[in-house]
Amino acid sequence: MIQKILEQGDPMLHMLSDEVTLADLASPEVQQLILDMKHTLRASKGIGLAAPQIGHLRRIIVVNDPQMVFVNPVLTPVGDEQECVVEGCLSVPGMTGEVMRYKTVRVQAMDPQGSPIDMTCTKLRAVVLQHEVDHLNGTLYTERATNMLTKGASPHEAPPKQDGTKKRVGGKTFVIDSERAVGGNQFVAWTFLEKGKIVEMRISPPSAIVRGIWLSGMRLRSGFKASDINEKIGRALHVGANDQLRIELQISKGKKRIMAEVDFDAE
Ligand code: ZN
Repeated sequence: MIQKILEQGDPMLHMLSDEVTLADLASPEVQQLILDMKHTLRASKGIGLAAPQIGHLRRIIVVNDPQMVFVNPVLTPVGDEQECVVEGCLSVPGMTGEVMRYKTVRVQAMDPQGSPIDMTCTKLRAVVLQHEVDHLNGTLYTERATNMLTKGASPHEAPPKQDGTKKRVGGKTFVIDSERAVGGNQFVAWTFLEKGKIVEMRISPPSAIVRGIWLSGMRLRSGFKASDINEKIGRALHVGANDQLRIELQISKGKKRIMAEVDFDAE
């Protein structure tokens, strides 16, 4: 049966889904859930659907073209390479946003009969898997995205990002922390809510290479060590309300966190 797809704002989309045991998987309820997910995905013309999107906190996803079901999917990035892709979501109608995703991932899972799946995916399939597994962990792509767009809008008309990267405005210091081990190319981005100037930036690890730095789409200097950012960018970078700062960093493998901090004086 085609089910209603929950939309952003529904608390269930922010909850962790449970593993499916073999006994669960064999039950008529879970088999019916899988059928419902397939039908709902087909009817919605989407390319992927996760069980929590139709109100079931089970670690099951369905992807299209060709249609495949993954139960308890576990993803492992293959290599460090990431790319910026434009994503949409059935739970966030009318919007798209740019997200950094691994180019290649290995997926280990079960099929609906409980047989193991172990495959390596690239391109769109890799992106869809990362997006859907995020759903199982209660994360919407809007929490990762920069440059949220309404469909059809051109990038310079992008509305300010509403959520996502952690933002702390107290004391005019903005901090972004990534909680997982990282490596390769990573980015941090945030939106200033008021007009003002950046007086200092600190990035950790300081050995990271700043590959790109953009202020609302305008590219500033790049290709230097993070520890040199204040010299290279200047200590009084003016920003307007709703301006977005985006810094792309090349990080050596196995770093536990990236920290980017900006001291900001509102005008
Ligand atoms: Zn989605």
